[in-house]
Amino acid sequence: MPETPDLADYEWPTCPCGRQLRNDELGRVACRLCQDRADTVLRQLPGPKGLYAGLARVLVPGVGSGVRVTGSRTAPLPLRIEPLSLQARGGVVTVLQTWLVDWHELLEWRHPRWRGGLQQQLDDVVHALRVNLEWAATEHPAFGEFTDEVSSLVRQCERQISGERSERPVAVLCAEPCCGRVLYVTVSTPGVRCGCGVQYAREAALSLTLANRSTTAA
Ligand SMILES: [Zn+2]
Ligand SMILES: [Zn+2]
Repeated sequence: MPETPDLADYEWPTCPCGRQLRNDELGRVACRLCQDRADTVLRQLPGPKGLYAGLARVLVPGVGSGVRVTGSRTAPLPLRIEPLSLQARGGVVTVLQTWLVDWHELLEWRHPRWRGGLQQQLDDVVHALRVNLEWAATEHPAFGEFTDEVSSLVRQCERQISGERSERPVAVLCAEPCCGRVLYVTVSTPGVRCGCGVQYAREAALSLTLANRSTTAA
């Protein structure tokens, strides 16, 4: 008599993201949503308008924010270390290439070759990863780790780029007693006038209390 499987102990296979795999996903490491998510994230990096190219534009302090950098022409401009560490060898390109080497090893393919400068290498490695994404999401035991790492890299790039350039309005509260209206200011605001009639100069506007943090953090 074959042993009766103990159904109470049976666990439906799950994706690293925690979702249970659907019937048509059984046998895969990751669900299709995770595969799509990884693809979406990868697609943001390459090309002249991609995030990776965007890092170069925020390397020099002040350039991305539109603040004029004045001073001696001969003095070297300091480079911002965070975007530099993402852009240089050892950053985004190297992390992605390390994954591609790992995939080639699992597939028993020869070591990938890198051609051209870093931007070219970035474009190429993203292309190669995307081409093999279906395989990786199906077979690669560390696909969840790959997705997490690539997502984190892309978020870091976005933070560097938007941190320098964004003029995202911040909600602050008018300090006038009994007013409490919400005002929107940006880092480069020249000042703001509240509906109650109070005028805030730049410094004063930027030191107003933030309105509900949960809405500004979104
Ligand atoms: Zn998933
Ligand atoms: Zn007011």
